[in-house]
Amino acid sequence: MTVRGAEATETRSRSASPSTATAVTRESATAGPAQLAIPWPGEKVALTKARAEMVKFQMAARGIKDAEVLRAMGTVPRHLFVPEQHLDEAYADHPLPIGFGQTISQPYIVALMTELLRLEGYKRVLEIGTGSGYQAAVLAELLPQVYTIEIIPELAAQAQARLSALGYDNAHVLAADGYYGWAEFAPFDAIIVTAAPDQLPPPLVEQLAASGRLVIPIGPQGGLQVLWQFVNEDEGLTGYRILDVRFVPFTRVVKSAPE
Ligand code: SAH
Repeated sequence: MTVRGAEATETRSRSASPSTATAVTRESATAGPAQLAIPWPGEKVALTKARAEMVKFQMAARGIKDAEVLRAMGTVPRHLFVPEQHLDEAYADHPLPIGFGQTISQPYIVALMTELLRLEGYKRVLEIGTGSGYQAAVLAELLPQVYTIEIIPELAAQAQARLSALGYDNAHVLAADGYYGWAEFAPFDAIIVTAAPDQLPPPLVEQLAASGRLVIPIGPQGGLQVLWQFVNEDEGLTGYRILDVRFVPFTRVVKSAPE
């Protein structure tokens, strides 16, 4: 593996303006403040507004430029992916607990990782670490097929039920150790890992399509972890160091709640 320097500020190739992007989404005629958030059917105006502010201040203002990513972040109802007791923080600028010692990532990190995958033209993405299913829903807004693996069976089942209830029929959840990827549906144009292993799992590299991208935090639990963007080029995998991050650990033991 060759590893080249960090390139976190490249420009996006998509040209659609935000207004063009929102024009093709649900209920665009009644889109929220500054067209930054699309109201989810039946949701309270305050939640649409909170989502619009999240897109504006946490994403656009911090350099997320991809109009499709911003549209997806403004569309997926994050408040339906967080536990009831954290509803008022659903659009806040930090991760939140989702049970079983796990967290739903900070919204900005979800947007950044999604942007780093450069999904335009891609058909299938594999996510390792389904958690609440939120990142999977964002991906399901952007690609025809989303495959996502969660090692905690209860979280996998909850996420699948939630994604189906919201109409994300293109998101498929598997309860398993994501270290091995999902060979049945490989190769994947994009792979995103939302828990931090010590090293890049070789099976994921094998399941990455030519010209595919893999975005993953790597580093020890509780120590320095680095978010990497890997690009599968003719001469091999090239790694771009993006920024220091803190993710929950990538575990290898299948956990289950006591009976
Ligand atoms: N993407 C999630 C947040 C993920 S938190 C969201 O949008 O809500 C990281 C998740 O990775 C946790 O749910 C954890 O259980 C899961 N995980 C950790 N190691 C894993 C492994 N080896 N395979 C699959 N999932 C794993």
